[in-house]
Amino acid sequence: MTNTLSLVVPFYNEAAAIQPFADAILPVLEAVPDSRWEIVCVDDGSKDSTLLKLVALAQTDIRFRVLEFSRNFGKEAALTAGIDAAKGEAVIPIDADLQDPPELIVDMVHAWRMGAEVVLARRVNRSSDGILKRRTASWFYSLHNKLSKTKIPENVGDFRLMDRTVVDALKALPERQRFMKGLFAWVGFRTITLDYTRAPRSAGETKFSGFSLWNFALVS
Ligand code: UDP
Ligand code: MG
Repeated sequence: MTNTLSLVVPFYNEAAAIQPFADAILPVLEAVPDSRWEIVCVDDGSKDSTLLKLVALAQTDIRFRVLEFSRNFGKEAALTAGIDAAKGEAVIPIDADLQDPPELIVDMVHAWRMGAEVVLARRVNRSSDGILKRRTASWFYSLHNKLSKTKIPENVGDFRLMDRTVVDALKALPERQRFMKGLFAWVGFRTITLDYTRAPRSAGETKFSGFSLWNFALVS
């Protein structure tokens, strides 16, 4: 039986990363047996040629769909819109800069077909992130997990596979100010974890400043 699956990719000023992303991702999707894919690309108000490039890609390959935001709303909003629009039986959010390794998708789909409802991808080392980012992330998780009954797994990002039942549970949540990692953890479901090593960015620089991460920790 053929499965339909969705990738959800947020793009903010990623013009230089688009072609490397397409070149890396397409052979991986083709390597997953019995699968049909859509790639939901969300342009989060980019100021460079990201949107133009995504539209050009969608014109040559119908697997690419493009959503356009009217301004920059941030990654959480981009993921929310992409996940809402995704039609697949399983949905995988993945960053545009190849820091989430596409090859892992093959194992994720395999684990899902064996019965997992959520397949988490855990970074075994974060040396490609700066020391400040690693330190602040570690403080955030230890403080959060001390205070909250819902534990957010450390070293797990938004890169994961979610079965349609999980996606529908997420979509039913009324939260408007959405911190996806928190909501992902809150809904639960039968979960397995795969480990990977985080790569450096394919192109460009991180789109998050120290200040925006701080803000994020406060509002979430
Ligand atoms: N991103 C986004 N909106 C933003 C900031 C980032 O859609 O306001 C996207 C970005 O294009 C990338 C993903 O979110 O696909 C992760 O961003 P980034 O690589 O800059 O974060 P880091 O890996 O440094 O945490
Ligand atoms: Mg990145």
